[in-house]
Amino acid sequence: MSASREQNLQRAAAFLKRFQSEPLPHFIDGAHVLGNSGAVFDNITPVDNSSLGKVSAGSQTDVDLASRAANDAFDSWRNVSAKERKQLLNQIADAIVERKDEIALIESMDTGQPIRYMRKAALRGAENFRFFADRVLSARDGLALPAEEHLNYTLRQPIGPVAVITPWNTPFMLSTWKIAPALAAGCTVVHKPAEWSPLTAAILVEICFGAGLPSGVLNTVHGTGELTGKALTEHPAIKGVAFVGESSTGAQIMRQGAPSLKRLHAELGGKNPVIVFADADLDRALDAVVFMIYSLNGERCTSSSRVLIQAPIYDEFTAAIRDRAEKLKIGHPLDPSVEIGPLIHPDHMDKVTNYFDIGRAEGATVTTGAQKWPADARGNYVEPTLFTHASQNMRIASEEIFGPVLTAIPFNDDSDALTIANGSPYGLAAYLWTNDIGRGHRFARELDAGMIWVNSENKRHLPAPFGGMKESGIGRDGGDYSFDFYMETKNVCVALGGHDIPQLGSS
Ligand code: NAD
Repeated sequence: MSASREQNLQRAAAFLKRFQSEPLPHFIDGAHVLGNSGAVFDNITPVDNSSLGKVSAGSQTDVDLASRAANDAFDSWRNVSAKERKQLLNQIADAIVERKDEIALIESMDTGQPIRYMRKAALRGAENFRFFADRVLSARDGLALPAEEHLNYTLRQPIGPVAVITPWNTPFMLSTWKIAPALAAGCTVVHKPAEWSPLTAAILVEICFGAGLPSGVLNTVHGTGELTGKALTEHPAIKGVAFVGESSTGAQIMRQGAPSLKRLHAELGGKNPVIVFADADLDRALDAVVFMIYSLNGERCTSSSRVLIQAPIYDEFTAAIRDRAEKLKIGHPLDPSVEIGPLIHPDHMDKVTNYFDIGRAEGATVTTGAQKWPADARGNYVEPTLFTHASQNMRIASEEIFGPVLTAIPFNDDSDALTIANGSPYGLAAYLWTNDIGRGHRFARELDAGMIWVNSENKRHLPAPFGGMKESGIGRDGGDYSFDFYMETKNVCVALGGHDIPQLGSS
């Protein structure tokens, strides 16, 4: 049985106490250190915007020390045997499982994400480490490419120290999704967590070093993107940047990394369509649509934030979504029955509520929500929102809102649905509901999205590729795809015998 709200509150308060007494330090070269400048910033909880404690703000010097530590550690880490690295990653996974409640409770208070999701997210962090532990042994495998007189074969080797820069929506799980394959490949890491949700990154380093990870292999520097993140993406020792965040930030990081020719892996924003045809199983489609926009407070890159509904079922289906949205339980994220918690930060709440005004001004109908949740003015709560009678040219249908806000657009036929779905600068995910199997496959081919789910919500399979097209990203994560980023592929060409070599200057 899950713990009650009161039990969760008590346990969370006990776990959070340690962050109140002194600023959260960086973790550089195996040691906790306060920043060299002494600068700190306040970390607030979205529950009531009170302080959870101060956090060290990383300076250029802190970033330099961390990047050098990662560089110094690289040669020995890459040469640690695969067997030993596998064992270490599995020990990290075990330790995450042991501390899953602590991670989930802290994450809920730091991000406002309901505890029902954060418990699962903590365990997914462990699964990510276990999955890549199993891949360590094959990470360096290459291909044999025999030619007539030569044998070509490929080798893979880690690219070197990498920066991992993560957002605030599910910070612990997302950071493990990057850090686990990097370590499995043999890279060393400097992690910069989002400044609005820094706490569980500190737990991750404790776990990794408790499990025996050598000094310098994983370093964490806290701070803002503009200063700390920028310094990291420009540092000459850093060979690649694994970034998750907004599309505009991804473009900025490309510019920052360009002078040092850094490799960039970017998982960016989305405005993902879910297309519902009249022939679909509408009960299952409704469950999926409601889940994919209102879970995780709508702060989810793969959220289905545009629902495209075939005209004959538009009124009936939008009415069903409204009924569900109005029954969603909003409240304190540590209440196990709560389905929608507060948005991460007052600035983000302002962004989301601004779209309520934009949608009204554009002429869409507010079918439900579009206001702050009146029951708690201290936290960043908004009501789950449904805009209907919208069209693709409206800002609420084309811009990423990143909150519990769904825009419903009617369509007539296949071609209409495809035009609307693809009429977006983004291309992360797309969802399709139909019982016409041919249409399912045709749409899978035609939709501009890196990931397509047919008759399903977002179900992840760890070996499958994850990533976006267009302004939603560059590169893929997952399984062997992760190693394409964290590893360099070398070709080796060996002569099998005495093939003819051109003889210059011999006559
Ligand atoms: P953000 O881009 O504002 O910040 C992400 C990270 O980048 C933070 O750590 C931030 O400090 C850092 N950063 C900001 N400016 C930087 C700079 N100039 N140089 C280096 N680092 C910098 O994103 P956010 O608001 O934290 O997160 C929400 C966004 O993340 C949404 O757009 C969402 O779609 C996206 N996201 C994408 C995925 C995916 O897999 N595609 C997953 C989760 C979230």
